Amino acid sequence: MTYHTVIIGTGPAGLTAAIYLARANMNPLVIEGPEPGGQLTTTTEVENFPGFPDGIMGPELMSNMRKQAERFGAVFKSGWVTKTDLSARPFKLEVDSLGAIEAETLIISTGASAKYLGIPGEKDNIGRGVSTCATCDGFFFRGKKIIVVGGGDSAMEEANFLTRFASEVRVVNRRNELRASKIMQDRARANEKVSWSLNRTPIEVVAGALGVTGLKVRNNETGEEEVLETDGVFVTIGHTPNTGFLGGQVETDELGYIVVKPGTSHTNIPGVFACGDVQDTRYRQAITAAGSGCMAALDCEKFLEEAASAPAAQQA
Ligand code: NDP
Repeated sequence: MTYHTVIIGTGPAGLTAAIYLARANMNPLVIEGPEPGGQLTTTTEVENFPGFPDGIMGPELMSNMRKQAERFGAVFKSGWVTKTDLSARPFKLEVDSLGAIEAETLIISTGASAKYLGIPGEKDNIGRGVSTCATCDGFFFRGKKIIVVGGGDSAMEEANFLTRFASEVRVVNRRNELRASKIMQDRARANEKVSWSLNRTPIEVVAGALGVTGLKVRNNETGEEEVLETDGVFVTIGHTPNTGFLGGQVETDELGYIVVKPGTSHTNIPGVFACGDVQDTRYRQAITAAGSGCMAALDCEKFLEEAASAPAAQQA
């Protein structure tokens, strides 16, 4: 089966691309991976997505976007893309649930997954004090104590940002040295609300009935363990862009993020477009992902028009 467009990934970027392409009568096939709706389904209330003055729950926002795309004819299939051959159009994909399919164009919106520590109490308390997104959840910690885990630029940025809300922000890093750039470190060190627990490895998120109460850490020098009291643990140890399934066929930067031509969604392969966090190391917001999904849909439509390939393709 050859589709005009296959969209891989169903976060705000993929779903926005699906809405635009479906409204343009392109009946895109949208492949939903193991985390339908993407990162927003792991947050609670979203208060900064325009159009929702009272906020909206992350899962509800994503479910609404999906319904909107379906209403115009987008077709959703659960599946995992196991193999891609992008050497010639139509592109060839192997999907575990669908078998072999072909696509005239491809939109990659597989996102980036926040890394977790993998310690006891962490996953159980997501939304109860554990978060991977300060912009999303910082507001809920007004006047409270927060721990930021990590020592990179993201951790420094999140720590500084969180001091707008928190009474105290403690940075916990597994090494004595920080990986962050000097300027970001200096900014955090100059912030009197930021304190430091370096050379400490987090070993457990401690929680009670109402959520997180502490982070148990091991002092790497002495081996001693202690519980640092806190209301929230922001895990900021990096993201992994979900590009492994492309087998290196699409150009990425050294961290694995897809490189797009500036100001567009075009990748190095004509007919393959990227949008959302899989190509964004900087903004990583639901609204910027949605905006880039719109760009990918418009770029894709124009590409198909120019290639005059649309009439040749069949639909499911
Ligand atoms: P980084 O990979 O730079 O830093 C990750 C941090 O988390 C490191 O301190 C690392 O420790 C620690 N870490 C990783 N895994 C674990 C673990 N399992 N347990 C405990 N600690 C762990 O990621 P960032 O997200 O901070 O940055 C990614 C990229 O984005 C960088 O290139 C950065 O410069 C860029 N960026 C730029 C910004 C800006 O310019 N404004 C803002 C944010 C990011 P260790 O050092 O020991 O490995």
